[in-house]
Amino acid sequence: MKQVEKLRNYLKDQHVEAAFITTPDNIFYLSGFRSEPHERLLGIIALKEGDPFLICPRMEMNDASTTGWPFEIVGYSDTEDAWSVLKDAIRKQGVIPTSMAVEKSHLTVERFERMRELFKNTTFTRMDDQLNEMRVIKSEEELSNMRKAAELADLAIQIGCEEITEGKTELEILMTIEYEMMKRGAEKMAFETMVLSGPKTASPHGKPGNRKIRKGDFILFDLGVVFNGYCSDITRTVAFGEPTEEMRRIYETVQEAQQAAVEIVRPGIKAMKVDQTARKIIRDVGYGDYFTHRIGHGLGISVHEFPSITDTNNLVLKEGMVFTIEPGIYIPDLAGVRIEDDVAVTADGVEVLTTFTKELVILK
Ligand code: MN
Ligand code: MN
Repeated sequence: MKQVEKLRNYLKDQHVEAAFITTPDNIFYLSGFRSEPHERLLGIIALKEGDPFLICPRMEMNDASTTGWPFEIVGYSDTEDAWSVLKDAIRKQGVIPTSMAVEKSHLTVERFERMRELFKNTTFTRMDDQLNEMRVIKSEEELSNMRKAAELADLAIQIGCEEITEGKTELEILMTIEYEMMKRGAEKMAFETMVLSGPKTASPHGKPGNRKIRKGDFILFDLGVVFNGYCSDITRTVAFGEPTEEMRRIYETVQEAQQAAVEIVRPGIKAMKVDQTARKIIRDVGYGDYFTHRIGHGLGISVHEFPSITDTNNLVLKEGMVFTIEPGIYIPDLAGVRIEDDVAVTADGVEVLTTFTKELVILK
């Protein structure tokens, strides 16, 4: 397992004796096992010397064993103390680690206190960033899953456009999109689907509801699906009936900014350049104050992952990184436009995974 190898190399390089991984997305990355354990304990313990093991609720042991994880699976019942089971399993390996790397952004205070009680002479270090870095360059297999997820997202926008008619509600359109996605092989939606209409498009994190679609509305779709564990994330804004002059100007500005940002992507440039390119275009037209968020975020097993594409991020882009490019302009009480693509950095440029048209679609 290549992923486990990366983790072992990290432990050797950092002279850390053990790692305790607890976020479901990182566990999926390392083991292929996808589980949402809620309050129950789910984790991978990796030791510098010896094999790693997975600890999970006993009822999930069978599922875990069918995912290709070649190492030990330790189960516990609901009446056992999962933390004591964990400690015993580590002790069985013949070591009590004096140093352990954990995911500090995920381990709750309560769990951390429990760990400290169990491992009194162990020092804990943070390995959140290193795990992010392990995941940042996508393999060809990961990319092919992401291409398929993006293809489904393109289709979802197409379906959404076909569903738009006068008087239909945002939620009705949303339900049809999700139903069609499940039928076509999406595991699930990558996040809560957004279908916003009219002035509601001016809210970047708006909530779809029972508003009825009217002529003259912008309709904003922001959605993604999960395919083989990998996410897509697309936004398109379309017009139902003739848009006003101002709506057109907003749209064209976002379109130009988004396209310019996509075209600048290649290995060797800094992440901030992507944001700055789009932001400058939007600012020059006078809408700078209405572009209220970063231009994008890494994408993969998580819908938001490392790296964050902001106007201050110095990170140098490398082949195999995948992230979103999603500038927007939001004029309160009037309308908002966002256009979002998923892009992969290639050896000499960029591959745009989402391909639905970015020309202004005007539905009659
Ligand atoms: Mn999105
Ligand atoms: Mn996004």
